[in-house]
Parts: sequence; structure tokens; C-alpha cells
Amino acid sequence: MEHFVEFEDVCKYYQTGSVKIAAADHLNFYVDKGEFCIIVGPSGAGKTTLLNILGGMDSCDEGNVWLDGQNVSHFTARELTTYRRYDVGFVFQFYDLIPELTAKENILLPSKLAKKGKTDISDTVKKLGVENLLGRYPSELSGGQQQRVAIARALVNDPSVLLCDEPTGNLDVSTGNDVLSLLIDLNRNDNRTIVIVTHDNQLAEKCDRIIRISDGKITD
Ligand code: ADP
Ligand code: MG
Repeated sequence: MEHFVEFEDVCKYYQTGSVKIAAADHLNFYVDKGEFCIIVGPSGAGKTTLLNILGGMDSCDEGNVWLDGQNVSHFTARELTTYRRYDVGFVFQFYDLIPELTAKENILLPSKLAKKGKTDISDTVKKLGVENLLGRYPSELSGGQQQRVAIARALVNDPSVLLCDEPTGNLDVSTGNDVLSLLIDLNRNDNRTIVIVTHDNQLAEKCDRIIRISDGKITD
């Protein structure tokens, strides 16, 4: 494969009653290793569908999805589980931290599930500025703090790519910009490959590589 991430004619359909809609309509795009890529489009454009297909959380009906030479669209269920655990890190709009676990326990959870995952998180938590929040529960953290903990969790198994679905969508503008700056730093300093999907055009203006999506199609 030429590119680190590549979508080849990817289609995903949903049938509700007699109406069939294409949430992904022959998607073709690529992301190179170490790139910071933002995919922008209005609500319902197919952004979450695209990210979930890339993250192995959802399957496509047609086409091929490549990550680091692996054809994700041909994985078995068992291969998908491994892929989700080691190859991708997910960051969501509503953080999705487990309320009964402390920040530290949340961050370490994917590494526990991975068994041979790392237990030394000191570097990661410093980078994300959450080293003094580790004993707190999610309810004791602000939105921005929760999202930084969630990013630390997504990085704990050292994924090949970090996938972020509206990562600033629940934050005020200034906190959202802080979180975006942090993601940009992770890309620049650690060479992390990052894919963000968002409806927020203002976020996109701050990124080098913008892909636009509408009605399940890449438009630009
Ligand atoms: P976005 O994240 O850009 O808002 P989505 O990927 O969530 O868009 O959805 C794309 C399209 O697919 C929308 O029209 C949405 O209604 C439809 N869709 C998404 N998930 C389902 C589902 N589980 N069943 C039926 N339609 C769905
Ligand atoms: Mg969405």
C-alpha cells in the first residue's frame, strides 16, 4: 500500500423501511503516516460512519479499508478485536470515561485489557497535563480535563492512528482550542497520525490537511 490509511470505493448503506441511504458513498481518500488530517462535514454527512469503519467498530458493504498494509475490511471478528485494541485509539465527543473509575484507572483500562500493555503512564499524563488529576473521578473533572484523560487513555496502547469524533464538540471554544492544540502537539512532537472528524469549520482552519465530506461523499 502506498498510503498508511486508504479508503478505496468504500460504501455503507442503511435501510430504514423502504428508504436506502448511503452513509458512505464510494469514499476514496488517504492519510499518510504522521499526518494530521481533519474531515469536515455537516451533521449526517457520514463522518462517524467513516471513522467507525476505519476504527473497526463498524463494517462497510463495499470497498477496501487499509491501515498500515492491513485490509481492515477483510478482518475476521477476532482480528477486529485485536485491531481495535492495539492499532487504533478512539476519542469521542462525550469523553466516554467510566464514571466508577478514577482518571488513572480509566487511562490504564485499555492496557489492562491488552494484558501486555504498558503500566508506566508518566510520560503520557505529563504530555496531556493530567498528572495531578489521576486520583479524581470523571464527575470531579471539567469537560476539557475529561477529554485530556480520554486522549491519554486512547494513547496508552500506543496505537498506529488516533481517531477523534467531534473531540471538541462538547467544549466551549477556548477549551476546545486547547484540546486541538494538544492534538496538534501530539502530531508534531510525537509524529502521531491523527484523524479528526468534525462539523466545525473553525477547527478545520487550524489544520494543514482538510477533507470535506457531504452526503457520504468526499467533496474536496
Ligand atoms: P455524521 O457523523 O456526519 O453526523 P453519521 O455517520 O452518523 O453522520 O450518519 C450518516 C448517515 O447515516 C445519516 O443520514 C444517518 O442518519 C445515517 N445512519 C447512521 N447510523 C445509522 C443507523 N444505525 N441506522 C440508520 N441510519 C443510520
Ligand atoms: Mg457523527
